[in-house]
Amino acid sequence: MKDAKDFWSEGLDQVPAYVPGEQPQGGGWIKLNTNECPYGPSPKAIAAMRDADDDRLRLYPEPSGEILREAVAKIHGVPAQDVFCGNGSDEVLAFAFRAFFGHGDPVLFPDVTYSFYPIWARAFGYDFRTIPLREDFTIDPADYAVAASGVVFPNPNAPTSIGMCLDGVRSILRSQSRRVVIVDEAYVDFGGESAIPLVKEFPNLVVVHTFSKSRSLAGLRASFAVASPGLVPALERVRDWYNSYTLDRIAQAGAAAALLDTEWTRSLTSRVVATRERFGAALVSKGWSVLPSQANFVFASHPSRSAQEVLAHLRDRRILVRAFRGPRLDRHVRITIGTDLDMDKVLEALDGF
Ligand code: PMP
Repeated sequence: MKDAKDFWSEGLDQVPAYVPGEQPQGGGWIKLNTNECPYGPSPKAIAAMRDADDDRLRLYPEPSGEILREAVAKIHGVPAQDVFCGNGSDEVLAFAFRAFFGHGDPVLFPDVTYSFYPIWARAFGYDFRTIPLREDFTIDPADYAVAASGVVFPNPNAPTSIGMCLDGVRSILRSQSRRVVIVDEAYVDFGGESAIPLVKEFPNLVVVHTFSKSRSLAGLRASFAVASPGLVPALERVRDWYNSYTLDRIAQAGAAAALLDTEWTRSLTSRVVATRERFGAALVSKGWSVLPSQANFVFASHPSRSAQEVLAHLRDRRILVRAFRGPRLDRHVRITIGTDLDMDKVLEALDGF
């Protein structure tokens, strides 16, 4: 008998799938493993989605997410034609890899970063090269001045939580002037500095944002990119190979309303930041080392226990956090910032551990 995998296309089995953090469906967990927001989304976003949920669903949505593009244009002061909308930033990032990389030289990204990047590179058949972070887990922009098909990094970086200043981003854009630089700003609203204004200064920049973190809409799957002039049509070309309608009618309405409710986002992010600072300081007082975070999570290491031991200890107490495998990562756990009460439970669980 033929093995079912014999029907798979050539090479498919050689590229591993990205494994996202666990999403337990039962209750009773303190879920601090996938960087969601502990507070609800904007009531204006919920109301806009209820309004969109009617007979018009029989029609296809507007393909480019025009109302969301207009909202991004208004909030960020960019032309709507330089905005691209998508179904979660994982989708927009995948499209951007396909649209801008693949010139023969390797794609560059840090050695400690979002673990989806190497998978997209392999899925599209691109070489990639990882650039080691400095000893203190920061990115050295000077390391990116080498022949490449393009560069991608999160800012703030994940899972390290450390942000890079705009001068660093500028320096990478300058040294890669023949290639596109993708800045993945999934966590920027928790204390980072956005590179969106630089699209006016540089022709080779794509900045990707998500509604999953600071807008508390991970379940909606919505995102956008702001790009230097003339780059959006490349993203549209790739999108239209797969699916012309990536954002449904309800998601377009909800995401646009969430973006325009800046006051709600500000209050969510400031609460998360206050909890993060308090929680980080409490971990340090227990002897942990905690990297300086500009995100909605901390990257921390216990003085003597391995990340796997911490993970198992917390899991036994129904608290989920995340650990990563790799030479510099075996001591660190990534802990999403939840409510004050969630974080008190984590501290209590770690007492005497
Ligand atoms: N970029 C980074 C750095 C992330 O951590 C995540 C969350 N897994 C994403 C992008 C994707 O987020 P989403 O697809 O929910 O927009």
